[in-house]
Amino acid sequence: MIVPADETARLAALHQTGLLDSDPERAYDDLVAIATGICGTPMGAISLIDAERQWFKARVGIDDTETSRQSAFCAHTILAPEDLLIVPDATLDARFRDNELVVGGPGIRFYAGAPLRARGGEAIGSLCVIDSQPRTLEPFQLDALRSLSRQVGALIELRLAYRALRHQMDERTWYEQQLIAQNEQLAEQTRTDALTSLPNRRAFDAALAKAVDQAERGGPLSLAMIDVDHFKIVNDLHGHPRGDEILVAVAQVIHGQRGRQGFCARYGGEEFALLMPDIGDDTAEYQCEFLREGIQAIATGIPVTASIGLTSFRSGDTGASMLARADQALYEAKRSGRNRVVRA
Ligand code: GH3
Ligand code: MG
Ligand code: MG
Repeated sequence: MIVPADETARLAALHQTGLLDSDPERAYDDLVAIATGICGTPMGAISLIDAERQWFKARVGIDDTETSRQSAFCAHTILAPEDLLIVPDATLDARFRDNELVVGGPGIRFYAGAPLRARGGEAIGSLCVIDSQPRTLEPFQLDALRSLSRQVGALIELRLAYRALRHQMDERTWYEQQLIAQNEQLAEQTRTDALTSLPNRRAFDAALAKAVDQAERGGPLSLAMIDVDHFKIVNDLHGHPRGDEILVAVAQVIHGQRGRQGFCARYGGEEFALLMPDIGDDTAEYQCEFLREGIQAIATGIPVTASIGLTSFRSGDTGASMLARADQALYEAKRSGRNRVVRA
């Protein structure tokens, strides 16, 4: 089998079109129909020459979807990509006399093929018309064949441009999705405390503002500020890493006991905040006692206690006024001996 000198580049160009084994398309079928119509032949095709086969993108009067490259007339057309290959009578041509498509079905006698050129000039196949009778073509028919093969080339160019565009759009969509995901992650990070995974102060302030709005329209709301006692000493005696472990444990107790029904956050260093929107004052105080005991029961080998300042919504309150009152109550809890709950 003789192959063109640029065979590797030629195959690459062909495969890049994505045409091989693609579905039939009206535009290609039409061009073959026009070619056979103008030339007056019973058969015609757009043939693509793959490594081992010729595959028909479009065909008229031909049953097979592909043949071996060995028997393909079009495999000869691409050897001289500059112009048409005309075979007036295959039985008189040494190249084709013994060809199975000449000797057997469909009994090819006449063949005229115009090369299809890729952007780089490589011949990837041909537009051809075929007859089972020997014949010749008029100059206008040869010109039409050349023109139509250029039209096939234009279709292929369009296809490549469309594929490149779609690829770019897919890339862009993917990139946008990445950005959105990153944004969501960032937004989440700006609302979350890295050590304890609890919401942070920013998130708590937003939740408090919402809860105050809600309370204004009726319904109970309590706010507790929880501060670990003598935490500086814990750090000094046991080191910062142990201190961190204790903060995580305290966060888990607060979240586990109350956080799910309300909203809890790490408000500052060793200070936590808890919103209880669903319960009255007395129940809130009882819950805080329960929480204080839960913190005291943390078994890390280091005694941990916390003081809690508690307040409930009063008409005209803002988030800030509630926080100030809870802080005042917390200060009172510290001043009066720590490890206790004081209600404002
Ligand atoms: P008080 O009972 O009055 O609250 O005493 P305290 O020592 O807890 O309060 P103070 O405000 O004097 O000290 C708070 C300490 O908490 C100081 C700081 O090093 C520690 N701290 C704050 N954030 C972290 C943290 O993320 N990890 C650790 N290990 N320690 C922290
Ligand atoms: Mg403290
Ligand atoms: Mg503190």
